Amino acid sequence: MAFPRLCIHRDRILYNAQTVVSVAKKHGISVFGVTKGVCAHPEVARAMLEGGCVALGDSRLANIRQMREAGVKGPFVLIRIPMPSEIDALVDLAEMSLVSMPETVELIDEACKAKGKTHRVIVMVDVGDLREGIWPDEVEQVASRLKKCARVEVIGVGTNLGCTGGVMPSPENMRTLIEAGGEFERILGKKLEIYSGGSSNGLDLLEKGTMPEKINNLRMGAAILLGIGLNDHDIPYLRQDTMEIQAEVVEVRRKPSVPIGETGLDAFGHPPVFVDRGIRLRAILALGRQDVPFEALTPLEPGIELLASSSDHLILDVEDHKPTLKVGDVLSFKPGYGAMLAAATSSYVEKVIC
Ligand SMILES: *Cc1c(COP(=O)(O)O)cnc(C)c1O
Repeated sequence: MAFPRLCIHRDRILYNAQTVVSVAKKHGISVFGVTKGVCAHPEVARAMLEGGCVALGDSRLANIRQMREAGVKGPFVLIRIPMPSEIDALVDLAEMSLVSMPETVELIDEACKAKGKTHRVIVMVDVGDLREGIWPDEVEQVASRLKKCARVEVIGVGTNLGCTGGVMPSPENMRTLIEAGGEFERILGKKLEIYSGGSSNGLDLLEKGTMPEKINNLRMGAAILLGIGLNDHDIPYLRQDTMEIQAEVVEVRRKPSVPIGETGLDAFGHPPVFVDRGIRLRAILALGRQDVPFEALTPLEPGIELLASSSDHLILDVEDHKPTLKVGDVLSFKPGYGAMLAAATSSYVEKVIC
């Protein structure tokens, strides 16, 4: 068995997908399963579809290509607004994309014309979080430009919250999106299929019962993958024990808790801080920053304290761990979103379906 590994419980992710889809359905909301947190692991993608997600969204075309090659059905949505340099691949690999720049949509239209294809887009509207999206007063101008793109079908509007600006979803900012959608409908002369109100953090408005009726789609990764929503809080009706990061102990020794000698900076240029607790039992795990940032890890057993990490080593205080650890023992950690993403991305971490 190879370590470190990211152990993924497919059945629990399936449970989360089914649960989130059924909660959303009660509010007339469809779910796009977002796969980027696990670099589009095909088994996870399949679990999302099996759980009732109507499409799979990823921010990277490379991930979408990998899912297609693994035989995952889709349909696929590129959820990062496209790079002009990837438009050719986009129309080959994804049925849909989130967009905000009219010139990019014009490139999509041209690529479609050349290939005899069509493409569907959801226009992102910035309702205050200040990441991607047209400004609400731009709708008329953007809509009339998109109307001329014969091979690109505008199927909806969407927004993103809680990312750059940390703005939380609210009935007010949802209404801004709905108004923008209404204006698109008037100018395009057709109804929009999709009003995509955000990500996992949108579940919060469903729980409060304040999600406006018109919103009929959410794009969810974190809720399905880790059972977390707004502000990374656990969602009580979902499972959080969906994944573990496992690593192997390579040294166990009693050492002082404060370094000996004059101290400078650590491996990452920061001055290290230590508390003198006398001689303590320490363990080194073969798990470093090239695998996962240790700040986003929670030990799954008591008696383990994370002390420091460098590129390839994680140092633990294991004085209070029972039984006493020995070389070759394997420790498990619960990853936060950042740890999951890093572990999934690192080629040094084995991905295993458990
Ligand atoms: C990552 C992402 C999502 C999913 O966010 P979660 O917090 O994982 O639910 C949705 N939409 C866009 C545009 C994203 O980039």
